[in-house]
Amino acid sequence: MDGLKYHRILLKLSGEALSSPQGSGIDPKAARDIALRVREVREMGVDVAIVIGAGNLWRGKAGLDLGMDRATADYMGMLATVMNALALMDALESCGVVTRVQSAIEMRAVAEPYIRRRAIRHLEKGRVVIFGGGTGNPYFSTDTAAALRACEIDADVLIKATKVDGVYDSDPHRNPNAVKFDRLTYIETLNRRLEVMDSTAISLCMENKLPILVLNLWDAEALRLSLLGEIRGTLVEG
Ligand code: UDP
Repeated sequence: MDGLKYHRILLKLSGEALSSPQGSGIDPKAARDIALRVREVREMGVDVAIVIGAGNLWRGKAGLDLGMDRATADYMGMLATVMNALALMDALESCGVVTRVQSAIEMRAVAEPYIRRRAIRHLEKGRVVIFGGGTGNPYFSTDTAAALRACEIDADVLIKATKVDGVYDSDPHRNPNAVKFDRLTYIETLNRRLEVMDSTAISLCMENKLPILVLNLWDAEALRLSLLGEIRGTLVEG
């Protein structure tokens, strides 16, 4: 499709995107809503790769708080991302979108191992690639996995899906005077400790000049218009 600003995107979804509002776990309706949005983007001719988190199921921090070993708790988090990846695969395939799941932690019975060149080939063939297992390493987050995979597959932008329409100087749910940023630099984001992504992920994007677009995935038009260059959300670059 002509007029696209971004031809290949890495979409970062938090695990909570798969739960019902105020819920946890996996809600098939929530998964389907996301799948339909992704299908729209594919129909625009955009290559789509997805990194999914696991906050709806397990976070390493929860294990730490229970006195667990950090690395073990983190590995549990990475395994949980694979469950979410499979749920998303299921929702996408039932909407007619062809997908491949690749896991950073080998589990050949359920997913392909992560192989960069194979992932790129899938994208070139129009398949949506879902990356599970985070980076495959403890002490990292799926935001960092998203930044890493986006660089590896040469994505034009990392889209961080949130339930608000961009980045604010304070929590818009609590502060009615919160101000939204249309654009930010990486350094501003880091210095002001704005809740875009963790600092490891932002630094990786900065070093590799990968723009980050924070937008509301549940606003039907925000993603479509942004892909056409009419940015709806907050663009972090420069
Ligand atoms: N995790 C990890 N290494 C990674 C990615 C994730 O150890 O490369 C673990 C970590 O414990 C994290 C959990 O997996 O808390 C779930 O990921 P995340 O918290 O990023 O999920 P989200 O907040 O996006 O739902």
